[in-house]
Amino acid sequence: MKSINYEHAAQRKTFVGLVYSRGSKEIKETILNGLEERFSKLHREGRIHIHDLEAYGETYNCLTPNILKGFPYEEYTNYSDFKKMIELFNYYRHIIVGLGNEQSGGIAFANFDEEVEIIYNKLNIAKNEINFQFLRDCIDSFLKWIHEARDRCGQVQYYVTLNLGLATGEISRFVTSSVLKCFMASKYIRPNIIFKLKDGINRKKGDNNYDLFRIAMECTCKKMIPTYLLCDSNHNLKVDPFKIALMGCRSKVYQNEYGEDTTIGRSNIVYNTINLPRIALEIDKNNPNLTKEEKIDLFKKNWLEIADDVKDLLFDRYYKICKQDPDDFLCNLQHNLRIIDLNKVISMEEVFKNGTLAIGFIGVSETIELLTGEKYFASEENHQIAIDLIKMMRDTIDKYRKEYNMNFSLLGTSGEFISGRFPGVDKKYFSNSLIDKGYYTNSFHVDVDSRLNPFEKLKFEGTFHKFCNGGCISYIEFQSAPLNNVEAISELIESAIKYDVNYLGFNFPMDRCLDCDTTGTFDTCGECGSHNILRIRRVSGYLEDVEFFTPGKKAEVAHRKPNA
Ligand SMILES: [Zn+2]
Repeated sequence: MKSINYEHAAQRKTFVGLVYSRGSKEIKETILNGLEERFSKLHREGRIHIHDLEAYGETYNCLTPNILKGFPYEEYTNYSDFKKMIELFNYYRHIIVGLGNEQSGGIAFANFDEEVEIIYNKLNIAKNEINFQFLRDCIDSFLKWIHEARDRCGQVQYYVTLNLGLATGEISRFVTSSVLKCFMASKYIRPNIIFKLKDGINRKKGDNNYDLFRIAMECTCKKMIPTYLLCDSNHNLKVDPFKIALMGCRSKVYQNEYGEDTTIGRSNIVYNTINLPRIALEIDKNNPNLTKEEKIDLFKKNWLEIADDVKDLLFDRYYKICKQDPDDFLCNLQHNLRIIDLNKVISMEEVFKNGTLAIGFIGVSETIELLTGEKYFASEENHQIAIDLIKMMRDTIDKYRKEYNMNFSLLGTSGEFISGRFPGVDKKYFSNSLIDKGYYTNSFHVDVDSRLNPFEKLKFEGTFHKFCNGGCISYIEFQSAPLNNVEAISELIESAIKYDVNYLGFNFPMDRCLDCDTTGTFDTCGECGSHNILRIRRVSGYLEDVEFFTPGKKAEVAHRKPNA
């Protein structure tokens, strides 16, 4: 079974996995053959990547469902309090399984704590000690289920993200504290949890939910999860923090040309990523005598040409998906999960036009180095060149947004499969040491071996966040788990807010001895001497077992150096 590929972040090595992965390869080839040649050529030549290609024309990417509109409150009326709580979380499981079958990407709950409280109250479940204990058990079982459950014939984990931390009601606070404490005490590496941080609610001493923020940071120190949505960053100040949420992979859906700005009930429909280093490699090879300024201008011109094709490609896919029937999205339809009720539409376009079409990018670091001879974080001048470039991409996307009245967005794509695929293809055409390392640097991140101190890293990367309205993240890399070092995490979060970071995560190597359960960072277990070690790392938003990483992600992990 060693022959299966690892294109999917969560692929498991089984017989059915082989069938699934070969089947999806076959479908991808058929789809590519059916596309306009200018589109398939861009993808095959590695200038762009069409994500979730096997879903082309069939379905959308991800959804933040509105769980409250379709919840079957009446059905639960005669249940006991315990049964109501059991069924409440079964309902969540049912939604996750249903969506897992009819979409290609993740599922996020925008305010998990508040949602559970609203349902709890509407079901008239008594607030007493016994029920609270049982609620905690239900939450723990729910987390355990997400950790263990497998989608698509058992091959792929569910990409579930719980956004929480803002709601101040008694039950909400209990939910957030239980999620964090159960997760912290367990071996779970899923679901992804995003703690939403907001001044006056949970950020500072004296704020109602400050205690929950402390628990969140303790949990991060131990398990890398939760990550932090920073609602006080300058570019988020006008956003209602209850209406915004993120996917664990970093995707962000918020502005809407067709209605209220909100994440709830909306999707990223499709996304493609442009290989930035490739454009720079071509200039480096074909126009070596240009000045730095001329190279940058040519880069912009060439990017615009590709972006124009990518925009057409997104439309091609979008209109194909819009031809589907509401019945093709049964879970969406039956549970009224969206801002538009699928039962009341004639065409899916009325629904999907509320979603985003994202244009992503990877390898700003390699690109600037190729164009200027130096890293973008080597000087203020180069940093400014990187800012101008990303601003140019966003301005173009805003222009598309206006011109076509569609929710185009700019995404700092997570590495996942492309970090290795792009340099792999580029190697066929070019020779350069930046290709040889085997991966391109994630979105606008500084190099993983930059050894910049964390504050400098945040200062450089923070300037890019406001441009990426389709989502992005900055990570701080630690050498080992910063156990009990909540103060350090807290200081870094404050600094990230100051530097206008939208979304922040902390990474460190997380090893567990499979023989005696000792955790830490090691090759040989210090307690029992075992080499039977589970290695958990984060590269594309979710925690994973290193063994299932793509070659590109493995290469990136091997190059990582802490920011200290
Ligand atoms: Zn051991």
